[in-house]
Amino acid sequence: MNIKENISLKELNSFHLDVKTKLFVEVFSEDELREILSQEPFCALPKLILGGGSNILFTKDFDGLVIKNSIPGIKVTNENDREIYVEAGSGLLWNDLVRFCIKKNYGGIENLSLIPGTVGAAPIQNIGAYGQELKDVFYSLKGISLEDISTKVYSKNECEFGYRDSIFKRELKGRFYITSVIVKLNKNPEVNLNYSALKEEFQKLDLKEIRIRDVSEVVCKIRRSKLPNPEDLGNAGSFFKNPEITEEVYLKLGKEFYDLNSHKLTSGNYKISAAWLIDKCNWKGKSIGNVGVHAKQPLVLVNLNNASGIEILDLSRRIKKSVFEKFGIMLEEEVNLV
Ligand SMILES: Cc1cc2nc3c(=O)[nH]c(=O)nc-3n(C[C@H](O)[C@H](O)[C@H](O)COP(=O)(O)OP(=O)(O)OC[C@H]3O[C@@H](n4cnc5c(N)ncnc54)[C@H](O)[C@@H]3O)c2cc1C
Repeated sequence: MNIKENISLKELNSFHLDVKTKLFVEVFSEDELREILSQEPFCALPKLILGGGSNILFTKDFDGLVIKNSIPGIKVTNENDREIYVEAGSGLLWNDLVRFCIKKNYGGIENLSLIPGTVGAAPIQNIGAYGQELKDVFYSLKGISLEDISTKVYSKNECEFGYRDSIFKRELKGRFYITSVIVKLNKNPEVNLNYSALKEEFQKLDLKEIRIRDVSEVVCKIRRSKLPNPEDLGNAGSFFKNPEITEEVYLKLGKEFYDLNSHKLTSGNYKISAAWLIDKCNWKGKSIGNVGVHAKQPLVLVNLNNASGIEILDLSRRIKKSVFEKFGIMLEEEVNLV
């Protein structure tokens, strides 16, 4: 196995932060992973699993072993008249899995088109967009414990999925390496246009029949028009989660802000748009030194010019402070801080 020393991760994270890792290895199979985890001195080192690096903010060099996940593969494991179970290696690009399924007309992940990163990272924060979440189609995942190298399968319930959340972001954070994921898709798909921006686009298009490939195309079009491409402008998508507030807070804010952007949850609480909160604090399009808030989407913090992770972290803290001072709401990071 090719262990590299003291290498830059600049091209391996979507913020393009020039941090170094003490040791680096890329793994292509479960066997390679087991081998590295059982070898001295690697077993005792701090480890970081790296997929596409599109949801990580490196604030310093990593003093341990970065394991770049490149476990490939895609296959059908089971099917009946209505459903099909597709298993993907965790190192496969998420969008490659989406494209595979759209080509075969397997429905359920078309609204998640073009989300950057790998299949293995998708369950970590239960990726979601345009009215769909991974958990809606998730069946199970397999992986290896970084502590005792045992293999374990997690069912949907065991993953404890929530909004941009799972057990792998909490109790099992950094302790479990996901090697494959199975999704359960629909062989006779019905399109999901519950998300208003999507519905509006299709009203304009006025198609006779809407197929999942149309949904994917429209989602890609909207995403490209709204989000900066990390190749051109370093970013990690939404930096913060949309906060949840009680009905009491919602009613209080609603009196002051007629355009409050929120929706009611089944719990009775309200989810409020973090982008709206940040915009109301006048951060949209602002920059400080080498970092900034994107002009079209204030949830996205951008690396304007060889910034450091600390500069981005500092900007995020300023934003949190001003949102808290204005609204009494504390934003929580969606991005993983390392
Ligand atoms: C432009 C842009 C748009 C985005 N849009 C969306 C969106 O619409 N919806 C959304 O939900 N997210 C979005 N994201 C965030 C990001 O794409 C997802 O969170 C994605 O799943 C991260 O995948 P990754 O492989 O890059 O993970 P990484 O950034 O490499 O890792 C993220 C975390 O997962 C851990 N991890 C990675 N792989 C594994 C593994 N195999 N086993 C265990 N732990 C692992 C890492 O250690 C880290 O803690 C966007 C990001 C960008 C840059």
